Amino acid sequence: MASDQIYDVVIVGGGHGGAQAAIALRGVGFQGTVAIVGRETEMPYERPPLSKEYLAQERPFERLYIRPAQYWQEKQVDLLLGRTVTALDAQAHTVTCADGETIGYGRLIWATGGDPRALPVPGGDLAGVHAVRDREDVDAIMSDLGSVANVVIIGGGYIGLEAAAVLAKLGKQVTLLEALPRVLARVAGEDLSAFYQADHRAHGVDLRVGQQVDSLAGVGQVSGVRLDDGTVLPAQMVIVGIGIVPCIEPLAAAGAECGNGVRVDGQCRTSLPDIFAIGDCAAHANAFADGQVIRLESVQNANDMAMIVAKTICGDQAQYAATPWFWSNQYDLKLQTVGLSARHAKAVTRGDPVTRKFSVVYLDPENRVIALDCVNNARDFSHGRRLVELRVGVDPTEIADVSRQLKEWIPIPASAT
Ligand code: FAD
Repeated sequence: MASDQIYDVVIVGGGHGGAQAAIALRGVGFQGTVAIVGRETEMPYERPPLSKEYLAQERPFERLYIRPAQYWQEKQVDLLLGRTVTALDAQAHTVTCADGETIGYGRLIWATGGDPRALPVPGGDLAGVHAVRDREDVDAIMSDLGSVANVVIIGGGYIGLEAAAVLAKLGKQVTLLEALPRVLARVAGEDLSAFYQADHRAHGVDLRVGQQVDSLAGVGQVSGVRLDDGTVLPAQMVIVGIGIVPCIEPLAAAGAECGNGVRVDGQCRTSLPDIFAIGDCAAHANAFADGQVIRLESVQNANDMAMIVAKTICGDQAQYAATPWFWSNQYDLKLQTVGLSARHAKAVTRGDPVTRKFSVVYLDPENRVIALDCVNNARDFSHGRRLVELRVGVDPTEIADVSRQLKEWIPIPASAT
């Protein structure tokens, strides 16, 4: 089939990864034609504020754009918005949109992120049940909020917790339900989970762990959440934050190697010729996870992968080896994390959580630093990052001593001695 348009690079998905890929391509001097094909009608915007300042109505949407409209024009990046790619032909080098339009590419960058995982219980599709993934979701929440007293949030990951913090501050009666025995169970150690649980409760959130949702009650509109023990919690609004499902169907249908995400190599190449994948949807072997194949859902990962692809397209040698980092804002707590703590053997707390400034240092079985969670502690984050990158071995008792700065453990390069 003849293409309606042909570009040297087509980027599918106009979120963090997609936008950054175009920015990086122009940044490294790529002169060819570039288009971003995006499902949303908005120009690329920052997603993290959606569950923070934007939901709190402290930052208008106009201040979320990754670049102003003028930038895309000047850099000659075509924004083909409001278009969903539904199929691709790796042989013909074309993608097809839902309306039948066909776009040809020289190289394709797949940056489609994921869709919110739907709540798999009866009533999960009632009105008043929301996700927090894009502007449309959050605008719907904000427009309904006026008539809402009780909000039930399902899922104690970062997005659920951030939404809980904002809505509690807005005066809503918030209940947060987590199925596992603690919040943040997949991404943080027990002490950090306990701290956040206590803090949310102190702010009036009814936070319950180990809770299974049986169904949502209501006729047309949600009115409550039924737990598996029969308890019914009143709710005029339910927010579901139970993870995402990578948007990779067209890639998988075209034969790309996929599992939980689309498999990419160290240059973010998929198994299909001339097709790269980046960001939340890209499953890659990560050195900070001891080489395990994982997906990372963070701005850092989307941006760094975008740069690797831009360099690779321009013929540079580049290998994805970026240090994972992430942040989350809840109440007055600014959490910064670096590294991946999932497989830690020991967690050492530096400082007293009561002061609302402390860090958790995660160690492997050989007492080497593999990750940190830093609460209101930018200095530990900055120094700790180096310890994670170098996987520095420490004495667990000594590293807990807050009178000593973490930079003391950073090895001095041989050339400086
Ligand atoms: P996205 O930014 O999700 O972009 C994907 C885009 O592709 C979307 O616009 C989507 O509509 C589009 N798309 C999907 N399918 C198609 C298709 N078939 N055709 C065309 N377009 C398609 N990370 C942090 O590091 N710190 C934070 O504090 C933080 N907070 C967050 C808060 C919220 C509410 C959310 C939702 C995410 C947060 N994240 C945070 C995660 C971060 O935003 C993501 O990791 C990042 O956006 C991933 O970029 P991406 O390009 O892979 O996907």
